[in-house]
Amino acid sequence: MIGKGTKLYSIFAAKCPSCHEGDFFIDQNAYHFKDMFKMHKRCPKCNQSYEPEPNFYYGAMYISYAYTVAILLMVLLVCQVMLDMELWPTVGVLATILILGGPYLFRLSRITWLNIFVKYKKPISRKND
Ligand SMILES: [Zn+2]
Repeated sequence: MIGKGTKLYSIFAAKCPSCHEGDFFIDQNAYHFKDMFKMHKRCPKCNQSYEPEPNFYYGAMYISYAYTVAILLMVLLVCQVMLDMELWPTVGVLATILILGGPYLFRLSRITWLNIFVKYKKPISRKND
């Protein structure tokens, strides 16, 4: 398991990038579609703002794009190079992964984007802020 204090922990556990304690999304399950987009405005534990400026998360589209390209390359490597599949079955695999993984990818992109701008603060230094 990835330890607290690393950005990867915040990203994959969907925790506040500042304290790694508070939840980022209101509903922890990305596949509850009704609440899929609902995020806390601020960290419930340390009060870190989750939206530092208006429309902050437009930038998360670039992250989403980067993750999509990474998935594309992995699918190409596995299906075309390792399994020697035809083109259309490969496209089918890619589409399936992107559709099923969409909600998760959406969230991953947002928390990754916020992690680029917000640094982890150790509990001791947070008291002095
Ligand atoms: Zn926090």
